[in-house]
This record gives sequence, C-alpha cells and structure tokens, in this order.
Amino acid sequence: MGLYDLIIAEITCPNTEKASTIGIQIKWTDCSQKNYKLGDNINFAKNMSSLWIQVYYCCSQCNTVSHPAYINIRKGRITEIISESEYQKRGLEDFLDAKELTQNL
Ligand SMILES: [Zn+2]
Repeated sequence: MGLYDLIIAEITCPNTEKASTIGIQIKWTDCSQKNYKLGDNINFAKNMSSLWIQVYYCCSQCNTVSHPAYINIRKGRITEIISESEYQKRGLEDFLDAKELTQNL
C-alpha cells in the first residue's frame, strides 16, 4: 500500500528552461521501491515494440506540482524520457495515461 517505484531522469523545466534531475513516481510496475533510470529494464510492456506513457512529476526548478513528461518503453526497457515540448515537437500523439494504468492494475 502506498508503494511505488521511481524513475530518475534529467529533464528540462518548461518554465525556467533549466535541466534538473527528477524522480518520477510510478505505480504501474511491481512497486518494490526500486529506482530506475534510462536504459534499465523495467519489467513492463515487454512484448511491445514501443510504448509512450505520460507521467507527471514535481519540479524542483519552479516548484510546480505537475509537469507532464513522456517515457518511452521498448520491449520492457526505458529508452527515452522527454519533456512535453519535446514530445509535441516530434508530433507524437499516442500515449497511455499513467493514471489509467494504475487503475487497471
Ligand atoms: Zn518546472
């Protein structure tokens, strides 16, 4: 109960445009209080060639409670973690909402 895993990532704040290291709380993995980073196998969506998941994180740069970020998982491995502006720049559209993932588990 109340457990989560963390994805540690460096991401640029949309307000200050400064990069900082953040911890994204996720509840759609096995929630054993592990820390994941780029390149790690996350034991999720192993059979999918590419999956984008939208998450929100607390920003230490501007103290905003929730900036969106997007995590790309390929065959169970974290391959990218990008900001919303980068996501839009690339014209990506399809993603899963992390909140829905949590509810479905
Ligand atoms: Zn910010």
